Amino acid sequence: MLVMKFGGTSVGGGRQLRGVAAIVAQHREQRPVVVASAMRGVTDLLLNVANAAATGDRKAVRATLRELRERHFHAVEEALDEQTNRQEVHREVAGRLAQLRRSLTGVTLLGELSPRSRDRIAGWGEGCLVPILAGALRERGLVAQVVGGERVIVTDRRFGEASPDLAATSERAGATLRPLIEAGTVPVVSGFVGATPEGVQTILGRGASDYSASILGHALDAREVWIWTDVNGVLTADPNLVRDARPIPTLSYAEAAELSYFGAKVIHPRTMVPAAAKEIPIRILNTFEPEFPGTLISSEAGPTERAVRALTSIGKATLLTVEGSGLVGGPRIVARACGVMAAYEANILLLSQSSSEHNVCFVVPASSGEELRLGLETEFASELARGELSSIGVERQVCILATVGAGMRGAPGVAGRVFGTLGRHDCNILAIAQGGSELNISCVLHAADEALAMRVLHDELIANGAHAPAREELVVAD
Ligand code: ADP
Ligand code: ASP
Ligand code: MG
Repeated sequence: MLVMKFGGTSVGGGRQLRGVAAIVAQHREQRPVVVASAMRGVTDLLLNVANAAATGDRKAVRATLRELRERHFHAVEEALDEQTNRQEVHREVAGRLAQLRRSLTGVTLLGELSPRSRDRIAGWGEGCLVPILAGALRERGLVAQVVGGERVIVTDRRFGEASPDLAATSERAGATLRPLIEAGTVPVVSGFVGATPEGVQTILGRGASDYSASILGHALDAREVWIWTDVNGVLTADPNLVRDARPIPTLSYAEAAELSYFGAKVIHPRTMVPAAAKEIPIRILNTFEPEFPGTLISSEAGPTERAVRALTSIGKATLLTVEGSGLVGGPRIVARACGVMAAYEANILLLSQSSSEHNVCFVVPASSGEELRLGLETEFASELARGELSSIGVERQVCILATVGAGMRGAPGVAGRVFGTLGRHDCNILAIAQGGSELNISCVLHAADEALAMRVLHDELIANGAHAPAREELVVAD
């Protein structure tokens, strides 16, 4: 069997849902389990309206409910032709809209949004989409059944970004989905959501319906997991920043994880973990160009004709620097700085230490930058007062740009080309990090340089090609 996941644009309206149904029908022999995300933009609307409800903004709640009703009913009209089927799906959608209204009324009355209620509301978009998609599949002659993701993915209680219990999920998903698959039914599972063992709904994190697909692939020992989206696979750079970014035919799990961790939104970073544990290949395919082969992600990276396979960047970051002579021979200072990061549960995007310059720096999401700066200042108040540390530096608008590729290992000179190219274009490098695996070289730059840096590096390293060493050279180098 196969898991096929369709993202927000792929299910963005009735016409698109017809296209999705055609793709699933074409692969019916492979016994697909379908996973779907919410329509594009719906999850953002839900998170905003949940906050609006908590502040008592009834007007915003009414407006959003109206918009959601219109979008979903319109999709029902556009996707379905058969009268009884359409009426049935319409009733189902109406019921789900009523549930959402009740949840939002509850939040409005309480004037408070608990993490638990937020997850419940955030996951509504997936739940409302799957009956429409199942209806479209039925009209293609398939037997389809809606299965809530909360019924098959068992998670911890970390609302907002829950983690799956793979063993419990395998049991639950096996018991629920296998009989359906064996009977020739196509299960249509809502992505993004799971539930605690007691049945309280959780979400797996923003963009995580890719992760849902991989979790289910793992649970069901799928042959492959196919992620259908709106581009021709993983591209050599974000197409919004680099116009001539091109599809990458093959990637290793490690490369794909590195790329997505450093901002390539096309696949959720945690997606690779469950699939890689069972060596299940993942394909990234284009719903709007279904014949295109896309990107195959597996344990084999495939031939590396270039040292650098792709570039990626994370914007909206803050650079925090602890510096001063107190850092010389002072591992305790570094440990304490890391302790502050841990105490605030900081998501450290990059960490770099240069003892000769007496500084250690952290790059964190801009949203947590100020809180962490204050945390560091409090922790080091006495060292700062004594002058052992000169300052806690802060650069508020930075980005991280990462070059990724297994071929960089043993390819001397890539770092030189990166720094040389950035220098020639006046992009000032604020910090650098390279992991021991040599899969990635990351530079911290001013946010204003992000687009230019991506373009010039893409030209230098990918369009013109920084060649990977031949295999024989690698063997000698080892
Ligand atoms: P879906 O809704 O199907 O999950 P997403 O919007 O989450 O789709 O991800 C696909 C988008 O990711 C693309 O439309 C593209 O704009 C963006 N993207 C960013 N970096 C990359 C990259 N390196 N390769 C492909 N797409 C990328
Ligand atoms: N709809 C969810 C989100 O927007 C999940 C996903 O798109 O994968 O975060
Ligand atoms: Mg996505």
